[in-house]
Amino acid sequence: MASRLRILGCSGGIGKGLRTTSFLFDDDTLIDAGTGVGDLTVNQLRKVDRIFLTHSHLDHICSVGFIADAVGASRRRPITVYGLPETLEAVERHIFNNVIWPDFTRIPTRENPFVVLHPIHVGEPVRIGARSVTALPVSHSVPAVGYALDSGEGKLVYTGDMGPSDELWKAIRTLGPLHHLIIEASFENADRRLADLSGHLCPDTLVAELSKFEHREVEIWTMHQKPGTNAEIRSELERLGNLLKCAIPRDLIRDTTLVF
Ligand SMILES: [Zn+2]
Ligand SMILES: [Zn+2]
Repeated sequence: MASRLRILGCSGGIGKGLRTTSFLFDDDTLIDAGTGVGDLTVNQLRKVDRIFLTHSHLDHICSVGFIADAVGASRRRPITVYGLPETLEAVERHIFNNVIWPDFTRIPTRENPFVVLHPIHVGEPVRIGARSVTALPVSHSVPAVGYALDSGEGKLVYTGDMGPSDELWKAIRTLGPLHHLIIEASFENADRRLADLSGHLCPDTLVAELSKFEHREVEIWTMHQKPGTNAEIRSELERLGNLLKCAIPRDLIRDTTLVF
């Protein structure tokens, strides 16, 4: 069966109408847990059995604690949070520490808590029935991964936050045809230095990354733009696309759904 990915948030920051990164994979799996999660109803939140985190930055993890608090007591099973060991350690140490937030990895009991943390490793698929989620290597300012989502019928890749990387494209090449690629475009070209320093992309480096990718037949979407920069990033991408005669990615839009 085809899967659906609902875009709950795809902005690099907050502001009216903006939500930070979070996608709902069918109705039971979240990919990142940014502020967009807050638009789900309590019933929808209760159906979330697992959350895959790309990395430890707040714009991607802030709703993990809120979901546990909102629906932990009314669920029969814990919510499983997947991520690199470094990411989970950061969540445990800095969120579920009984200071910033209660330790829902031990509440109400150690044996049956609201949240279970489950480390993953790059290249090892987590199977969910006919579907799977596989971590992909990316380069960012903290340990981070992207994800390949497989519905059993089609594939989608989400890079998460990333700077230039050869490893990612090598891994993507082994996946075969993709339906969608969601890639970040955080900064304008004027802020390229900042993008390079912080492990992000701007239009110049994004187009250089896409040149490493055989991307016929795939829809390419950009996301994670810093608030207020969308229009400039869009016009820079269009200028580059026309100049280099390459496909111009489209902006991902909140509350739309991709099918794959
Ligand atoms: Zn980040
Ligand atoms: Zn981010």
